[in-house]
Amino acid sequence: MENKWNFQGNGELKLVPAPRIRGVLSMIMQNLNKDDQRTTIPLGIGDPSAFPCFRTSISAEDAIVESVRSGKFNCYSPSIGILPARRAIADYLSNDLPYKLSPDDVYVTSGCTHAIEMVLTAISRSSPVANILLPRPGFTFYDTRAAYSNLEVRRYDLLPEKGWEVDLEALEALADEYTVAMVIINPGNPCGSVYTSQHLKKIAETARKLGILVIADEVYNHLTFGSTPFVPMGTFGSIVPVLTLGSISKRWIVPGWRLGWIAICDPNAILQNSGIIKSITGCLEVSSDAPTFIQAAIPQIIEHTKEDFFLKIVEMLRGAAVICFDKLNEIPCITCPSKPEGSMFVMAKLNLSLLDEISDDVEFSLKLAKEESVIVLPGMAVGLKNWLRITFACDHSSLEDGLGRIKGFCERHAKKK
Ligand SMILES: *Cc1c(COP(=O)(O)O)cnc(C)c1O
Repeated sequence: MENKWNFQGNGELKLVPAPRIRGVLSMIMQNLNKDDQRTTIPLGIGDPSAFPCFRTSISAEDAIVESVRSGKFNCYSPSIGILPARRAIADYLSNDLPYKLSPDDVYVTSGCTHAIEMVLTAISRSSPVANILLPRPGFTFYDTRAAYSNLEVRRYDLLPEKGWEVDLEALEALADEYTVAMVIINPGNPCGSVYTSQHLKKIAETARKLGILVIADEVYNHLTFGSTPFVPMGTFGSIVPVLTLGSISKRWIVPGWRLGWIAICDPNAILQNSGIIKSITGCLEVSSDAPTFIQAAIPQIIEHTKEDFFLKIVEMLRGAAVICFDKLNEIPCITCPSKPEGSMFVMAKLNLSLLDEISDDVEFSLKLAKEESVIVLPGMAVGLKNWLRITFACDHSSLEDGLGRIKGFCERHAKKK
């Protein structure tokens, strides 16, 4: 009988260039050896919520319970988010800014991922195709999402020998009249870098010269533990308009709560009549909203979470970053160019000439999973081949165990003299 079904799906989606980090990690995880009695050490994905020591604050949990129990938030939310949430987020971000954001500058999203989707869709333009400048190494969701939104991607390099700062000269050379925005991720994923105020100002001045927006992914805001304090890009919003993206996923360690935001940091109101804000609200209208009861809990989550909670998390990450950096640099075939000062990640470079029968970062990660039950992310998944991205957001003993296994693996595979 003739087949009349026509379920082909959108073929173009299969052509999307950059795989999402999760896709690469699940490929690596399929290589785990089920007969290994040792526990698997997950140094691939940045979600420490599985570790009891990274449990979120009690006040955040209480806020959610109260919100649900009130029975007042079982309703739909407006597409831009409910006012108390927008106000609380505006106040929270304003604490670190030289001007005050109004609730009207804030749009609530389902996590930072949704914020990225909305902003990239809002700035895309099809004829002529707009382009966007993304960091390399970076967070590949931007690349993938840009491909879905008909945005051309151009990659600028981060410089490992300069603490992963932006190569601003190269960035300038990439831009043309169709460039609409550049993305920075600070504190950095995957590099663990934290930019100084001076560097952020230079970024702002460069973007101004090019006439482009800065999209500042600050999902790791305040997760810093080195000598450089966190400074929001919005500080320089009077030099260049900044769209700040964030969420509670990382600082509160609740990525499953799906609560994020877009904040328009533009004290000179350059964007007011640009169409961009209209596009963002338009995109939000045809998209799903963050759960109302989570939004309603936001004012309490922000206000009631004690400084102790943040200090404990930052101390744990500080200790973990030191262990990670020191242990990795003891391994001859691995080099970390700079000690992580923020976020939950470090980039480590492989010297493959010291290893036998390992041709690249993917093979390294696959064999490491199989032989040692340790998961790391091959650098190709963040745009840097033959590097690894390692997360140190796990309890210190698992981390030491995992790094010890990586060392054993490298010794076993070392080229014989
Ligand atoms: C985790 C992460 C996100 C996504 O955050 P969610 O709030 O979980 O959606 C966005 N950007 C970067 C750089 C991240 O590491």
